[in-house]
Amino acid sequence: MKIVGLTGGIGSGKSTVLELFQKLGAIVFIADIEAKKIMNNNVELIEQIIELFGEQSYINNELNRNYIASIVFKNKEKLATLNKLVHPKLRKQFEEFTKNIEEEIVIYEAAILFESGSDQICDYIITVTANLEDRIKRTMKRDGVSRKQILDRMNNQSNDTIKIKGSNFVIVNNNLKDTKLQVFTIHDLITNSSKNYKIS
Ligand code: ADP
Repeated sequence: MKIVGLTGGIGSGKSTVLELFQKLGAIVFIADIEAKKIMNNNVELIEQIIELFGEQSYINNELNRNYIASIVFKNKEKLATLNKLVHPKLRKQFEEFTKNIEEEIVIYEAAILFESGSDQICDYIITVTANLEDRIKRTMKRDGVSRKQILDRMNNQSNDTIKIKGSNFVIVNNNLKDTKLQVFTIHDLITNSSKNYKIS
């Protein structure tokens, strides 16, 4: 089993690439989704989050994401503290997840792969990139949000240069056909195989 970290900025095409790997038989762990589950279910973590952000952090036992986001967006220290609380638990969850896996590739998808230190657990790392204007337009369409909101979110993420430096592979996701080809090539390199793919 190889652990493949998949990262990239917002709208670059991580989920798109993830799906392509899934179609080739990879199993996937989406850090953001798993982190949400832990923040809603782990009693110790819930207590720590309430201590850090106050009682408003949960409404009807559900994490109040908008409230937390509004704080960490303006306060990088609190964001770092939150990440320090969540990540060890997330790491444990991932270890459990990989215990009985037979698939050749496990993809660990995280926008903040490097920032969270999760790059350390990966055998390979892939960064997905796309040109900035495409990323903005795709995200506006996908999330129904304004350009300003996306630029704000982008400003909170590390830039591609840092990600690319730490990666084994870079997928340039400009058009889907080329992206598929890049995924097939990387899949073959990692699994040491050569398959007969059909590009559609
Ligand atoms: P991320 O997970 O990195 O935020 P997504 O994979 O969700 O990015 O891609 C953002 C949006 O752009 C999605 O709606 C997706 O369907 C679309 N998209 C992704 N890649 C392409 C592409 N090469 N051409 C056109 N649209 C794309």
